[in-house]
Amino acid sequence: MKISTLRIVDDEAKVTVGPSIADEFKDLLRHYKLPFEVHVEDYREYIEDHLRENLRLAEDDKVGEFNFARYHPYDEILQYLRDTVERYPTLATVVNVAHTFEGRPVLAIKIGVAKNTPKRAVWMDAGIHAREWVAPATALYFIHQLVTRYGNDQTVTDLLEKLDWYIAPVINADGYIYSWSHPARRLWRKSTAYYNSTCDDGNGDPTSSCTCTGDDIGRNCTCTEPTVRNCTCLGVDLNRNWDVKWGGQIGSSTDPCSDVYKGRSPLSEPETKGVSDFILERRGAIQAYLSLHSFSQLWMSPYGYNATKIPSDYEDHVKLSAIATAAISRVHGKQYRSGRSAAILYEATGDSMDWAYDKAGIVHSYTIELRDDGWEYAFLLPPDQILPTAQEVFPAFIQVGLYVWDGPNYEYVPFPTSGAGSYGRPQDSAVYQWLLATSLMWRILNQAASY
Ligand SMILES: [Zn+2]
Repeated sequence: MKISTLRIVDDEAKVTVGPSIADEFKDLLRHYKLPFEVHVEDYREYIEDHLRENLRLAEDDKVGEFNFARYHPYDEILQYLRDTVERYPTLATVVNVAHTFEGRPVLAIKIGVAKNTPKRAVWMDAGIHAREWVAPATALYFIHQLVTRYGNDQTVTDLLEKLDWYIAPVINADGYIYSWSHPARRLWRKSTAYYNSTCDDGNGDPTSSCTCTGDDIGRNCTCTEPTVRNCTCLGVDLNRNWDVKWGGQIGSSTDPCSDVYKGRSPLSEPETKGVSDFILERRGAIQAYLSLHSFSQLWMSPYGYNATKIPSDYEDHVKLSAIATAAISRVHGKQYRSGRSAAILYEATGDSMDWAYDKAGIVHSYTIELRDDGWEYAFLLPPDQILPTAQEVFPAFIQVGLYVWDGPNYEYVPFPTSGAGSYGRPQDSAVYQWLLATSLMWRILNQAASY
């Protein structure tokens, strides 16, 4: 199948059109004298080139070393986590935080120096959306930096003494594996859950079940016996399923065939339920929530569900976002824009960042959209950009750790707590004041933050 991507030059739009309307669409653009260029003639071929390049890079792998400069299938990621725990047993442990629809474990690695006193923590996840391969790759690189810099890098050493890091590199393991299973599925976004009980057999019996089969499952649901209409499609958008303004009509859908299908109920999916339970059990201890996505180069703060609602910690978000984006730009010069998610991207309900902020009381909750800016590669970021991407966000993540550590008023409050305000805040610490001064200086110099 041939799908083309066209750029409409003057208005800087980029559209992807299917084979059946590609010629007609071009004729239309010419008719209205809209200048355009064909960016990708055949998207299937483009995807296959992308996959071939990644496969070729596997030849550079060295025995016993994980190659961070290419994308890895799920089993290799799991192996990396096991190897890391084996190599750094005093620093790292693997924790099972949830399971997937297909029954796979959702694993996180916990990195930090074990203490007898309670420690604060930072949570990071990646791979909620299957096709955003650079996000898990970036999480793995971050894990590697933490464990290898401990004892060599004073800041990282101090951070791991003070804080625990929970890093779950692939939340949506089923979807990630699905996106690796065939070039036509490379751009799969959702999980692979499906619920036959919602099928309508066309004879008025809503309880009839059906079985979806074939390569087109989920994309163009095909049912075998019994013949049905409205067979449910494959997959839930795990970043529309969280228990925060779930059911809102904006940016999510009740249609199981939609790419932003929100699922049957809030936290209906085992991945979101498991991760949310895990975080709530550590409520008060987890002081930052970072969720890695791609693409667009954005550092986004709450809210995603309402473009005009200003969170009560907005000023705090602005400060840390400015610090983070300045840290990013210093590495390879890439500018990440920051701001409230709904204001700088689009409104969407039921996302994990809003849940972490509103329901888990985590003041510093951010969604980070990694490279690229979308104009060139979008989800198909070439493997040679994995390392630069991971390198540039590494110091920003460290800044988040610095920001939340060692608040003088901090008191550990074990679950359950009475609310987000019941634990200490870092505003008065010397480290914070220094970072704030640095951030303001950078904002003046760079005008890096944009609102
Ligand atoms: Zn995403």
